[in-house]
Amino acid sequence: MADYQVLARKYRPQSFREVLGQDAIVTTLKNAIKRRSLAHAYLWCGARGTGKTTLARVLAKALNCQQPTPDCEPCNQCSSCREITAGNSLDVLEIDGASHRGIDDIRQINETVGYATSTGMYKIYIIDEVHMLTKEAFNALLKTLEEPPPKVIFLFATTEPNKVPATILSRCQRFNLSRIPLADIMNKLRQIAGDLNVSVQEEALRMLAIRADGGLRDAESLFDQILAFHEGSVTVETVAVVLGMMPRDCFFELDRAGKEANLAIAFEIANQVFSQGKDIGQFLESLIDHFRNILLIKLSGKTAAFLSLSDSERDRYEASAKLYGQEQCLSILDFLIEAQQQRFTTLGKVGLEAILLRILRSHQRIPIDFLMRRLAELEQKVGGSPTPTPPEEKPMPVQSAEPLTKLASPISIAQPSPTSINEDPTPTKMSAPIELGARPTEETKIDAIRRQSRYDTLLQFATIELEGTIKKQYR
Ligand SMILES: [Zn+2]
Repeated sequence: MADYQVLARKYRPQSFREVLGQDAIVTTLKNAIKRRSLAHAYLWCGARGTGKTTLARVLAKALNCQQPTPDCEPCNQCSSCREITAGNSLDVLEIDGASHRGIDDIRQINETVGYATSTGMYKIYIIDEVHMLTKEAFNALLKTLEEPPPKVIFLFATTEPNKVPATILSRCQRFNLSRIPLADIMNKLRQIAGDLNVSVQEEALRMLAIRADGGLRDAESLFDQILAFHEGSVTVETVAVVLGMMPRDCFFELDRAGKEANLAIAFEIANQVFSQGKDIGQFLESLIDHFRNILLIKLSGKTAAFLSLSDSERDRYEASAKLYGQEQCLSILDFLIEAQQQRFTTLGKVGLEAILLRILRSHQRIPIDFLMRRLAELEQKVGGSPTPTPPEEKPMPVQSAEPLTKLASPISIAQPSPTSINEDPTPTKMSAPIELGARPTEETKIDAIRRQSRYDTLLQFATIELEGTIKKQYR
């Protein structure tokens, strides 16, 4: 029986066109090959699993291929291509910077670097995790990089370019690999599933892709894990069990419970998370993703871009989005992200219950945009003049506070209490409309000052009390 080959290896891209999510880099490289304007050293930076060494290998193959396509793709048939794929090419040497980080390892490179390749093609050194090299090793490497022999190319890959010395960086052409888009990862997994004749639910694929966070190799490894665990079709439940995630249903339940003021659900969900041994960090991440989807639908409708959801999921999210206000969503996302950053996971079950309760209670809170609107309306009613609404007008309450207070101080600023504003629309002296055509009397001036000072006070109050939220919304 043949050895089982992990998916990431079995389905590793063997040509540029199979490389996912790095189109700009691929185009640049192909152009460089066409024009034969190659750098002596390339540095690929990017999160793990984004295809750094894969790209390096494809480039090595394309450079040394005996029959490349007109589009600069390697043929994958010639002896050079086959040797590189098998990892036994004498011209393409792969070094793991994490385990060969010393000066002796680099000296070996320096000694062989001058020898012509067996085939007269390029001699290519791929050093993975290059940031792990020691200072001495970097210095030794630098000597070669300063005067590289012809037909020698270094391909460095790193997840931490900040740890690579500037002297090395300045001699490399640098490429930043982006995280692979969710849809691309899902496509690739779908293709693998088709190839293996395994049926997988769309939502299950999505869960895998989200967890992989832009790293294709991680997605493939997780898929491996699921296939090893489970026979037959892969469902949301299978993925949830293997990945220690909660099925998305519980989040929709949370949405409905909030509207029904059913706080007990917080305890039920937290209990499920703990009794089933789910990962809290993961749970928080899924919760954030859930509210991000809701917010996106609130802002742009269910056809919103950046949403990788099936049609039925979009419908579900649309229904949930109706249960939340925009400001409410933003504030939930704010505190969820804060909780995530503060490693809320260490707080355990009670911490999780608190988070869920806060989400549920947010349905009872009056949104700030509503309050601001109401304040402006009241202001208009009481003041009798069309006061601009806060979002348009951006007074600087703190700066203007001093002179206004000074102006207003001789006058009693004891305003009618909020209830009397509500209940008593009888025009008082203060709120009497200014008569048009009338000579601006001292009295009307005072009225204007009073109105301004009241508005100013309201804004000051709002700024101080609700600082963060107001800034975010109206800036
Ligand atoms: Zn070839």
